[in-house]
Amino acid sequence: MLSVSIPPPQCLKKPLAVPHRHMFGPGPSNVPPRILEAAAKPVIGHMHPEIFEIMDDIKSGIQYMFQTRNIMTFAVSGTGHTAMECAIFNAVEAGESVLTAVNGIWGERAAEIAERIGGRVNTIVSPPGGFFTNAEIEQALLKYRPVVFFLAHGESSTGVLHPLEGIGELCHKYDCLFLLDCVASLGGAPLCMDEQGIDILYSGSQKVLNAPPGTAPISFSERACQKIFNRKTKPVSFFLDLKWLANYWGCDDKPSRIYHHTGPVNAFYSLRESLAVFAEEGLENSWKRHKKVAEYFHTGLESMGLKLFVKEKKARLATVTTIVAPHGYNWKEITNYIMKTYNLEISGGLGPSVGLVLRVGLMGCNSSETSVDMVLAALKDALKHCHKSKV
Ligand code: PMP
Repeated sequence: MLSVSIPPPQCLKKPLAVPHRHMFGPGPSNVPPRILEAAAKPVIGHMHPEIFEIMDDIKSGIQYMFQTRNIMTFAVSGTGHTAMECAIFNAVEAGESVLTAVNGIWGERAAEIAERIGGRVNTIVSPPGGFFTNAEIEQALLKYRPVVFFLAHGESSTGVLHPLEGIGELCHKYDCLFLLDCVASLGGAPLCMDEQGIDILYSGSQKVLNAPPGTAPISFSERACQKIFNRKTKPVSFFLDLKWLANYWGCDDKPSRIYHHTGPVNAFYSLRESLAVFAEEGLENSWKRHKKVAEYFHTGLESMGLKLFVKEKKARLATVTTIVAPHGYNWKEITNYIMKTYNLEISGGLGPSVGLVLRVGLMGCNSSETSVDMVLAALKDALKHCHKSKV
């Protein structure tokens, strides 16, 4: 007879406690009640016809957000990293050449993921806050002849929005798939997958979409599918194998769907609702709103004497602003003070930008002048109260 020797933990006797916070860091953002409530609807089976209908709605919503007619469009069960691995695991075979543009942490991560599956990875590197010219990209494509070129549209670690003009065409000229990360930029900056020649595009639910973390929109062009479905070897991950996911999401020509994994149905409900909110506002209105609010924010910061980390105006990401870490202060003291005093999250740098910047994310419903005023007031107060060294 088995007997229990580990008692039930005392901590679980306390009720679950979660504070209300202003989520103005680089993500996750606040989730409006409408989207939260959607997740509280009853669980139904992941193979029931009603969930297939919800998944079809999600596919249409993502096609709208991505501006793509790709049939191979769906949401991965997992965070942005899962989509990143889904893209790379499927598009790259061991021994193939991959090029990643590194101007912050996301290019570094993409390089590491490709390396782990045996890709021959090369990088082009720019200091944090910078970006690449098409000439630099073309030179590297010519030199390394990659099968995939990775770029982050919105580099959330440095606050850079990478210009995209002509990059899709360049990749296609060198027979390379253009893989773009839009986790931090989707809905907050103009992006049209088909028109801009993007072959694989992925995002996350928890930024501009204002849905809880845990689902990640992704889409593959016809060219990407051609390469992926003619691989010599199977992708290393069963869970992220595009053939399986395509069937699970009804994106293939099979008459029925077969069980692959148990989709997070409640997360699908909220993702669907967040896409509905976007469809109501309209993508272009959202792009405009994020730009206008970011400019209002940037003017406010500069009038306080703070400096923006990204020098070129057109390369500033509207969703995540990077502020040069104020001289003489410990950035951690500032973020801690603001959290403690205002229940408001802003963050420090990430990867190559640690110590260099403060990051403020105003995404989706948080992109408003009211939020900006709140952040500016909190920053002003923090700079008054936090320790400033004389040197
Ligand atoms: N790419 C970018 C540009 C991001 O900002 C993030 C999240 N900070 C990710 C990828 C990874 O997403 P997740 O944390 O959801 O795995």
